Amino acid sequence: MPSGEIEDTAGAPAPAPRDGDGPVGVVHPVVRDGDPVLHRPCAPVTVFDDALRQLEADMVASMYAADGVGLAANQIGVDARIFVMDCPDARGNRVVATVVNPVLKLPLLARRVTEDEGCLSVPGETAPVERAATAVVTGVDVFGEPVRVSTDGVAAVCLQHETDHLDGTLYVDRLDAPTRAAVLTAAGLAPR
Ligand SMILES: [Zn+2]
Repeated sequence: MPSGEIEDTAGAPAPAPRDGDGPVGVVHPVVRDGDPVLHRPCAPVTVFDDALRQLEADMVASMYAADGVGLAANQIGVDARIFVMDCPDARGNRVVATVVNPVLKLPLLARRVTEDEGCLSVPGETAPVERAATAVVTGVDVFGEPVRVSTDGVAAVCLQHETDHLDGTLYVDRLDAPTRAAVLTAAGLAPR
């Protein structure tokens, strides 16, 4: 997700300093809608090695370089179930997380919210999408240790948006067909 519409509520958070002993991230270009890697489910992560930790660092670097608040691995062309986020909750607190093999759980009676949503893979455009106002994701970190993120606000939308990515779904897939075609065309991408 791009940071765009959330800047007024959250200020402009500086990139989070990462632990000094981790790998240095390399910025990768963000893959655009239409690339097959974005439109199929990603493979579960089964090996928790230095390559996975390098991937995490690369994803974080790529997210900040693109002024994003969330990024899924397939958005830099990697077929693996992992996303990173640095995204404000409803009170403007930063939710910084990496989740490998995420499982999304939406509260049964979660309030629904409709907010303008954007995506680094559909650059420059936004459209309203209905989502649950609160969300929980469970999974593991890059060392295989359990992770649980329970949040609200833009961060809850981010959890749903990034988990969607790993299932091969972009937010534009949740729009009606004419709106999807218009958004993709406005972004300079092929309508579908
Ligand atoms: Zn996205």
